[in-house]
Amino acid sequence: MTVGYPIDLHTHSLRSDGALEPAALIERAARRGVTIQALADHDTLAGAAEAMAAGERLGVRVIPSTELNTESEWGDVHILGYFLDPADAALEDRLRWLREHRGRRIELMVEKLNALGYPIALARVMEIAQGGSLGRPHLAQALFEAGHVPTYDSAFDTLIAKDAPAYVSRVGLSPLEAVQLVVAHGGVPSLAHPFTVIGLDELMPLIVAAGLAGIEAYYGSHPPAMTAACLSLARRYGLVPTGGSDFHGRGDHGAPLGGVFVPPETIAAIEARRGGQAAATMTTAVGGD
Ligand SMILES: [Zn+2]
Ligand SMILES: [Zn+2]
Repeated sequence: MTVGYPIDLHTHSLRSDGALEPAALIERAARRGVTIQALADHDTLAGAAEAMAAGERLGVRVIPSTELNTESEWGDVHILGYFLDPADAALEDRLRWLREHRGRRIELMVEKLNALGYPIALARVMEIAQGGSLGRPHLAQALFEAGHVPTYDSAFDTLIAKDAPAYVSRVGLSPLEAVQLVVAHGGVPSLAHPFTVIGLDELMPLIVAAGLAGIEAYYGSHPPAMTAACLSLARRYGLVPTGGSDFHGRGDHGAPLGGVFVPPETIAAIEARRGGQAAATMTTAVGGD
């Protein structure tokens, strides 16, 4: 019995933060009537081969993809990269580095402080943060408590401000770098769930200039006005409107597999953008009124 739409360009497996093995994910999607599916685990293509093999068995065309998290002042900017090569070793190296260093900034700064002769414990910094996301203020507090600096503020001035000896910059890709990484490896970048971006109107021209090819217009939690706004951005910037469930299989995160309508012409449109093809050729084919 088919209960979903046939195209789903945004799904996650256990290889990142989903709940199902890649093959089980494809099987579940196939049962719901999905015939074209992008497996887009965060910062990895590790599930692609298994998913593609399952897809061949079940008649689901699996598009090897990833979803890149970024670090910037623009909020949660996630870049989907379609049609990437799971055997691309240079890409895998870069993704591995990102996975290993994400969220380790404060840990790296603690290591630097210890090496510089200001011993503090990461555990104490985490206690100070009380479960919040770790930041330099927690480090400053720990340094002050340990008697390494005379005041909280002086910790910044002498040790952890930008250009100070224990400073470590945010680890990760900027939105522009994420777009460029996908393009450099022959993939097609699309901006995921644009509503999580802070300052979307300002960011759009920058990431379009970097090579953005799509925008996720069709998304489970998008109200019609958001979809319309994305379609309008797609027309304005010559982008392919993409879409998908963002299915994770746990909690409320995402829609069911195949739970979001994605127009059939989307596939040909994103394929045409492989290898950084110019926008002009496709804008008339998709995202019409
Ligand atoms: Zn996301
Ligand atoms: Zn996602």
